[in-house]
Amino acid sequence: MAVFEYAPAPESRAVVDIASHYGLFIGGEFVESEDGKPFKSVNPATEEVLAEVTGAGPRDVDRAVRAARAAYEKVWGPMSGADRAKYLYRIARIVQERSRELAVLESLDNGKPIRESRDVDLPLVAAWFFSYAGWADKLGYAGFGPDPRPLGVAAQVIPWNFPLLMLAWKIATALACGNTVVLKPAETTPLTALAFADICRQAELPAGVVNIVTGAGGTGQALVSHGGVDKVAFTGSTEVGRQIAGSLAGTGRRLTLELGGKAANVVFEDAPLDQAVEGIVNGIFFNQGQVCCAGSRLLVQESVYDEVLGRLKRRMATLRVGDPLDKNTDVGAINSPAQLARIRELSEVGEAEGAERWSAPCAMPERGYWFPPTLFTGVTQAHRIAREEIFGPVLSVLTFRTPAEAVDKANNTPYGLSAGVWTEKGSRILWMAQRLRAGVVWANTFNKFDPASPFGGYKESGYGREGGRHGLEAYLAH
Ligand code: NAD
Repeated sequence: MAVFEYAPAPESRAVVDIASHYGLFIGGEFVESEDGKPFKSVNPATEEVLAEVTGAGPRDVDRAVRAARAAYEKVWGPMSGADRAKYLYRIARIVQERSRELAVLESLDNGKPIRESRDVDLPLVAAWFFSYAGWADKLGYAGFGPDPRPLGVAAQVIPWNFPLLMLAWKIATALACGNTVVLKPAETTPLTALAFADICRQAELPAGVVNIVTGAGGTGQALVSHGGVDKVAFTGSTEVGRQIAGSLAGTGRRLTLELGGKAANVVFEDAPLDQAVEGIVNGIFFNQGQVCCAGSRLLVQESVYDEVLGRLKRRMATLRVGDPLDKNTDVGAINSPAQLARIRELSEVGEAEGAERWSAPCAMPERGYWFPPTLFTGVTQAHRIAREEIFGPVLSVLTFRTPAEAVDKANNTPYGLSAGVWTEKGSRILWMAQRLRAGVVWANTFNKFDPASPFGGYKESGYGREGGRHGLEAYLAH
């Protein structure tokens, strides 16, 4: 068979301008830290230092919360919904105008392929601001009473897997409802949040409505436990989510948590198999599998197991792993050495417990943090790779015989964030969706997001919803 090589198709890095040092964005301007320490943000595909960023200390966090409070009381809280909407529309349009720059910056800082940051993350970021701009003057019709009020100051802590998109989910909703915000991006991916701070300035958003404090877990802890915040929104690991829930218990402050997942992607024998294979690949290799709703447990009906597995391996062998800025790249870099170590460790546990490992044969760059698209067969429900979130490009394959068995296995997890069903039969889709304990159930597709659609979990995947009308509830007193 003739093999055609891809010519490199690199996106230009020249469209981004990264400063060598960033302060904190407090009260509408970049300021130097009072009690923090600098740290570096690294390109995970090359290990190159991109910028020095400020790790905010408790005094910095306090300054940010006070700036948010003042903006809430003097400007943003009293402002009409229609006027708030104008700012949100303006931000949405600037995001669109600067989307190429933001996509490149996201790929540099996070390691995700430019194809994804350009075609998924950035369009969704703009869509979120547009969509919630539309809500800002219609909150009285959202189903939370005729005159729902904002909560005040929201403390928001986000992870590194979709840095700008998670920021948009949190900030667009909070602002539309009339709250002000102090947001902490993840320590490995602070740069697009800092670029967003610049967008706030460009949009002439009143000072203090959005404040960005960079830093690691300690900064996050100082923020969520600050007595001056009225609401905490956290996305990240179940472990940290549990700690935050414990520390807020009894304070009366509102909390929403979006934590991990271990989604089942269920393929029935009547499914269109080529489409299902695309969905399986998208489900687990999108964003290197570093997705809380990733379809990391594949459940295949026994009668089509050999066929699905054969097609899946053939498809995986065509995935291109490498330079995130190359437009041909399907699978980029793992976000950090710590995350790579975790993926390696759990994969080794998978082998030690008796599952069989297969990785796509692919060349990987020498520098940077990489892991090949991998699947495990012979997996049982007791294996750690079937129970724990790996958060990497690693798929655990299990089988089932009957729909009831598929439901039992799919629900046999402490998580409940998402699930996928592949079948030609509409009635089976509905039957499954009623029984799967997951916040989102995709049918004959996977990893589809829309600002009008609520997203969130059951059980250890957290509580509260983001997106849609439902997402407003977390930011309104009613
Ligand atoms: P993490 O929960 O430690 O970090 C998420 C965010 O919380 C970051 O901004 C971090 O600085 C902050 N943080 C850490 N400790 C904190 C504390 N005590 N108080 C307040 N904020 C704190 O997640 P991680 O270490 O980056 O990743 C570990 C695992 O978490 C991953 O392997 C994955 O399983 C899971 N994860 C889930 C998601 C998701 O979208 N649900 C995202 C990232 C990671």
